[in-house]
Amino acid sequence: MTINHTYLQRPCPQCFAEGLSSGIEVSTGTAVTERSFDDLASYWWGFRNKNIFFDYTRCKKCEQLYCREYFTAGQLSHLYEFMPDNSAGVDQGVLAKTQEKYIEFLYSFSPRGAVYLEIGPDLGQSASAALSLGMKKDSPIQKLIFVEPNKNVHENLLRVSQQLAPEIYGDIQQVPGGDAKVTETVMIHVLDHLVDPSSYLGTIRSLSSIDSLLLIVVHDEHCLLRRLLGRRFPPFTLQHPQLFNKKTLESFLGLNGYEVLEVKKSTNYFPIRHLASTLLTVLGLKKSLARFFPEWTVPLRLGNLIAVARLKNN
Ligand SMILES: [Zn+2]
Repeated sequence: MTINHTYLQRPCPQCFAEGLSSGIEVSTGTAVTERSFDDLASYWWGFRNKNIFFDYTRCKKCEQLYCREYFTAGQLSHLYEFMPDNSAGVDQGVLAKTQEKYIEFLYSFSPRGAVYLEIGPDLGQSASAALSLGMKKDSPIQKLIFVEPNKNVHENLLRVSQQLAPEIYGDIQQVPGGDAKVTETVMIHVLDHLVDPSSYLGTIRSLSSIDSLLLIVVHDEHCLLRRLLGRRFPPFTLQHPQLFNKKTLESFLGLNGYEVLEVKKSTNYFPIRHLASTLLTVLGLKKSLARFFPEWTVPLRLGNLIAVARLKNN
């Protein structure tokens, strides 16, 4: 086998075993690693029928599904720096409703704390929900910290709270430690994107107070949609160097010093017509057929997992 040194060779991101995978589980059937970076970059964003991604393999030791080869840190910073926001054309009000439900779930385990950290806040809708939920009961949130590599949304994020003047960083390593320890961390569709998720959580731990809460939303690689769509399941994409299921997410959090409080399928609010258009695209059918679907918005437990965990005292 020839190795193309353009791309990173990875051990299992959960247990760090090397070469203990059970062969390729999901593949686009083309020699992806022989393609140039510029060629792959054109597949970075959006839905399409014939998508391209790095092969996914499953670790024999811990069962994590991951890509053994992936983009390097330098390539990723180039890809992430300027992207359209992640809403993919979905109505803002519909997105906000989904985010509100996530935040309500987080705060069902513990009262709000003083320092809110969010990784990849995108348009800041979760942080807004956290603030307004808090306001109703005299918000104790005194500090908002955002880590957002996408510079296109920085201006929007500053508007989340004029009173608190959010701190925005492009990278978690830039967040200064200090006396004001993080009391809650929100990572919605972030963990699937990180090349080294364990060391990333290590950095969050070092910034956090004991008992700090962590909210995570990820795609579920064991969901019904994946069984129906196979390799056309949209989360199989260049953007995801690993994907979790309930079991691997629980063990990942446990290994990284967190006590799992609950992991469940999350409810997302979907406009039916938008959902139909995405599915028609990945199935290679005419997107315009989506006009025959109603414009209703419905809550669906479709393809995502939500987890709340507490930092252990050790
Ligand atoms: Zn493993």
